[in-house]
Amino acid sequence: MEPGNICYDTHMDFSKEKQEELVRRAMELAAQTAAAGNRPFAALLVDADGAVILEDVNTVTTGTNVAAHAEINLLFQAAQKLHIRDLSSYALVSNAASCPMCATALIKAGVTNFYYGAPNEATMVPSITMEEVIAKTPHPVNVHGNVLANECSGQIKQLSGLRQAL
Ligand SMILES: [Zn+2]
Repeated sequence: MEPGNICYDTHMDFSKEKQEELVRRAMELAAQTAAAGNRPFAALLVDADGAVILEDVNTVTTGTNVAAHAEINLLFQAAQKLHIRDLSSYALVSNAASCPMCATALIKAGVTNFYYGAPNEATMVPSITMEEVIAKTPHPVNVHGNVLANECSGQIKQLSGLRQAL
């Protein structure tokens, strides 16, 4: 396929068990980056068979890049390791809904299949949910949210609290 011609009609439907397995992996990585001092967020790039191709985490605090959210780090890694700009054959899995910056970047990369745990935080700035970004996207985007939502929200709350106590 020519660069720029992104196929937006892929639709991946992972089983509930697979979705939960992947979100639990994101939760593990989120705990690891939280232990290093970052916000507890992680993202996985997954192929149509459910295999994890790349993983990354939020590194805003330990680095110096305020845009170093898990999804943005993942996109840089994809560019460096996969050498492609069209990620439409992959799904994005994370322990929380993407912020508007990341949702926009992922959609620009052709990602149309999202699986996430916790919903967007009400305190997010700017307060634009992933669903609102998707509603402005002129092609179908498949979002499977609230996978283990209570567990993910609880973990984020707990680890964020620990971080503030440090
Ligand atoms: Zn983000």
